[in-house]
Amino acid sequence: MPKSKLERGNVRVSTVSDEQYRSREASHSEHRTRYEAKAYSASSATSPLAGTTIPRRELTDQDVQIEILFCGICHSDLHYARDEWHDVMPTVYPCVPGHEIVGRVRNVGSAVTRFKAGDVVGVGCLVDSDGTCPNCEAGLEQFCPKQVLTYGSPDKHGTAPVTYGGYSDSIVVDQRFILRVPSNLDPAAAAPLLCAGITTYSPLRHWGVTKGKKVGIVGLGGLGHMGVKFARAFGAHVVVFTTSPSKKEDALRLGAHEVVLSRNIDEMKKHAGSFDFILDAVAAEHDINLYINLLARDGNITMVGAPEKPLPVAVFGLIFGRRSFSGSPIGGIPETQEMLDFCGEHNITADVEVIPIQKVNEAYERMVKSDVKYRFSIDMASLKSE
Ligand code: NAP
Ligand code: ZN
Repeated sequence: MPKSKLERGNVRVSTVSDEQYRSREASHSEHRTRYEAKAYSASSATSPLAGTTIPRRELTDQDVQIEILFCGICHSDLHYARDEWHDVMPTVYPCVPGHEIVGRVRNVGSAVTRFKAGDVVGVGCLVDSDGTCPNCEAGLEQFCPKQVLTYGSPDKHGTAPVTYGGYSDSIVVDQRFILRVPSNLDPAAAAPLLCAGITTYSPLRHWGVTKGKKVGIVGLGGLGHMGVKFARAFGAHVVVFTTSPSKKEDALRLGAHEVVLSRNIDEMKKHAGSFDFILDAVAAEHDINLYINLLARDGNITMVGAPEKPLPVAVFGLIFGRRSFSGSPIGGIPETQEMLDFCGEHNITADVEVIPIQKVNEAYERMVKSDVKYRFSIDMASLKSE
């Protein structure tokens, strides 16, 4: 008999091995601590998303249970469902994407003080972090080495192998990762703020985009159109770079002062050496050097777009002009709340096409063709008929 058993003999006299004991305990607690939620999941990189049920944990003291009303479709959902980021973040199947969640609080755990049943709340890309590292202490949970993403991260509660996202009728999240959604914002159009909103707001703030700056936004998709709205609201002179001539009018309506068709080299050259900051929100391979050459001295270009393959950089473009090339991931919880409050004050939301969940595969195909104006928002009531 292993020593550990004898040591605890007065507490647990048993003839089963420690392993059997642990697995019995685990399966016992599974019955007590899970419920089933409806969801859409992908079972492989090539299979379409389809209806399923997934386990969600019952509330712990710190948890909030949310009935999901709307969930935006981010291009990251597609990259992840199709395992396009395999080398960096291999997908664990089945996967339930969705990290632009707006919903209504149904229940709260006994220690939850900040939310109550009926509140309209948001959940973005993060659902947990260690809370103690220097990044967390600075409110920059997006850099915490123990961050837990809304989908695809190991589930520390053991409810499932990995966390499952917002293409579902409900979710249970620690109160520290729940955001207040201003009541004047339409919930369907506010959902994309939880990723597309914060991912563009954060670098624009970080790089000091204000009145008097010339700012470029590359790619008028979900992220890009939010970038235009924020850069304009911060007072910058905004130039949109698009590959889609059909989006020219919209770019101006969304707040751009100028629009450049990026495949027209003459149009591009007119802006050489003139930008303080460029935000690149393109989801596919493209020539980054064309944009580096548009930066002024000390200008910066930040990638938020996360294409599958590496982008070659001609370093002389950086050296001449002391320009810099950076990246930026989502944003921390305090800044996400700041962004939502800013949106409440300035009445900013995403331009959305609301769809039932049954159209999610069609929506993915349209996203690959850059045919989204400018974010799909899934009406989760459509899951009821599944
Ligand atoms: P999206 O809605 O599909 O928009 C991407 C836009 O990129 C398209 O609308 C298109 O705009 C442009 N584009 C597409 N293919 C192109 C090509 N071959 N060459 C040039 N431009 C092209 O995607 P999204 O949801 O905004 O996401 C954009 C990227 O950001 C994705 O890679 C996503 O994974 C990533 N992302 C990163 C973070 C982060 O934390 N850094 C967070 C969220 C998403 P035009 O029609 O105007 O050319
Ligand atoms: Zn996203």
